[in-house]
Amino acid sequence: MSELERLAAEIAQCTRCLLHRGRTRAVPGEGPLEAEIMFIGEAPGFHEDQQGRPFVGAAGKFLDELLETIGLKRDEVFIANVIKCRPPGNRDPLPEEIEACKPFLDRQIEIIRPRLIVTLGRFSMARAFPKGRISHLHGQPRKLKGVVYYPMYHPAAALHQPSLRRTLEEDIQRIPEILQQLDQIPEFEVPAEVEQLSLF
Ligand code: SF4
Repeated sequence: MSELERLAAEIAQCTRCLLHRGRTRAVPGEGPLEAEIMFIGEAPGFHEDQQGRPFVGAAGKFLDELLETIGLKRDEVFIANVIKCRPPGNRDPLPEEIEACKPFLDRQIEIIRPRLIVTLGRFSMARAFPKGRISHLHGQPRKLKGVVYYPMYHPAAALHQPSLRRTLEEDIQRIPEILQQLDQIPEFEVPAEVEQLSLF
């Protein structure tokens, strides 16, 4: 069993927060160990909870379409979520749930060591930029402690707000160019007035 598989088995048994009580299946995430890019969403929804796989509903279909526009298939990237069990009624994850689940995502990042982390939505972005606003930060790569993060809106947001669809389509187009220029991206200087609560 690989380290990623062992971690997935651990997640499937996890009872660190109350979300384990309502889950059908935990959703650890999936993708190849050698993935260059890691996409991090928010939390499993209904279909993900049923299947134990990330991004398999309508938002996942849209993510697949976005990946195709830059010549990527989903099995070439690693896809995970900030929390691994579905919140009831798809509500926003609570701070204590995010904190309880954080070690799992930290370990996935340590194991995979992606060259680029694409955050999908504000909860994912907030792990790197807790005081940032997605409307300001999306579509711009930033390097923190040697890791390049690229915030994008969550694909589900585009399903509810059609105006965001175009934004996502534009932002994903930058990924191939960003991958080629990772070494030239300077370390992000956190503005002194911005309190960083947690970094990856
Ligand atoms: Fe464990 Fe995370 Fe599921 Fe909570 S959401 S029970 S911390 S795997």
